[in-house]
Amino acid sequence: MEKIKKNSLIRLSKSCIGNEEKNAVLQVLDREYLGMGNDVLKFENQLTSFFNREALCVVNGTAALHLALQACGVGPGDEVLVPSLTYVASFQAISATGAKPVACDVSIDTFTIDIKDLKQRITNKSKVIMPVHFSGGVGDLDEVYSIAKENNLRVVEDAAHAFGTIYNGTKIGSKGDIVCFSFDGIKNITSGEGGAIVTSDKEVLNKVKDARLLGVKNDTQKRYKGSRSWAFEVDEQGWRYHMSNIMAAIGIEQLKKFTSIASSRKHLAKLYDSCLKNSSKIYTLKHDYNCVLPHIYVIRVIGLRNREKLREMLLLRGVETGIHYQPNHYLNFYKIEGSNLFNTNQISHELISLPLHPEITDKEIKYICNCLLESLEKSADSIF
Ligand SMILES: *Cc1c(COP(=O)(O)O)cnc(C)c1O
Repeated sequence: MEKIKKNSLIRLSKSCIGNEEKNAVLQVLDREYLGMGNDVLKFENQLTSFFNREALCVVNGTAALHLALQACGVGPGDEVLVPSLTYVASFQAISATGAKPVACDVSIDTFTIDIKDLKQRITNKSKVIMPVHFSGGVGDLDEVYSIAKENNLRVVEDAAHAFGTIYNGTKIGSKGDIVCFSFDGIKNITSGEGGAIVTSDKEVLNKVKDARLLGVKNDTQKRYKGSRSWAFEVDEQGWRYHMSNIMAAIGIEQLKKFTSIASSRKHLAKLYDSCLKNSSKIYTLKHDYNCVLPHIYVIRVIGLRNREKLREMLLLRGVETGIHYQPNHYLNFYKIEGSNLFNTNQISHELISLPLHPEITDKEIKYICNCLLESLEKSADSIF
């Protein structure tokens, strides 16, 4: 089957799937065992080697965050500190436990949780800090951990963007309290949908193993031995959050391609940086792309007033763009009055995400940057 190229629209993001993934899925279908079994075990083992400590797979990144929080004992009456500038998944995972997400500001330089703001929002109800590794960068993660230590808080890293990022010389996920990843269709690697929880905490690992299978005790171990629990016990609230063999088969093939996926994303982000560095109107994240593996390429257009106009102009020239993110404290369900998120309020209207996925070409990046710079110049009156 030929790949469908929507008449030369440069897509913001997309899954990059080859014959390897297709064949792997067909093999699972042929074996006629689609649920959680050997393929999931194999993918988990490969992730465990990748991170050099135990990884558990679940149905998506949101479920990973939800289970991580539940395993820390987070529930009603507790507070979880999280930047407002994140996907609603982070917030939903927190409110799913009954806890309250406390929206924090972001640093104007890194778009990750602002350390000063974080400190002043800690109360005696705080239980967990959930830093979000925006676009693959982790900000001052060391500082987050030292604040957590001082205040006796746990850290659940939302590393949905940061699969493959290196921090302090090691992979994100290989260190830290509890680290959650997403393998949804457009993330750094995909398993269709999917997620993972990585930690050294044995108690958390054991809780997650049961909780992802409706709380059925030891069901993970039984499934991996090819047997099923007919008589079982349940001690806790669980969820149907396990990964399927179909998903794992895709993930295994993606992991084989990791090196090339990573170098392509890094290369494209560097190219964006060099094409945009001379514009005084554009702020780009100061990432070292030898270490940061970017999931999205977000720019801040300083002083932008009419983002939709700019996005429309780019779309007319075949460039799809996105918004990461509409802050969560603007949403009805999480609305917070007078929350004083100064940086978030200032920059969130100025953020635009440019196309980034491994199949974009250098030529396309240069074209996108030209379109952007021309639009900013020629239509300054209508967008600033
Ligand atoms: C993708 C994403 C998630 C959730 O992952 P899903 O697999 O889509 O559930 C959580 N947080 C952030 C920042 C994300 O981008």
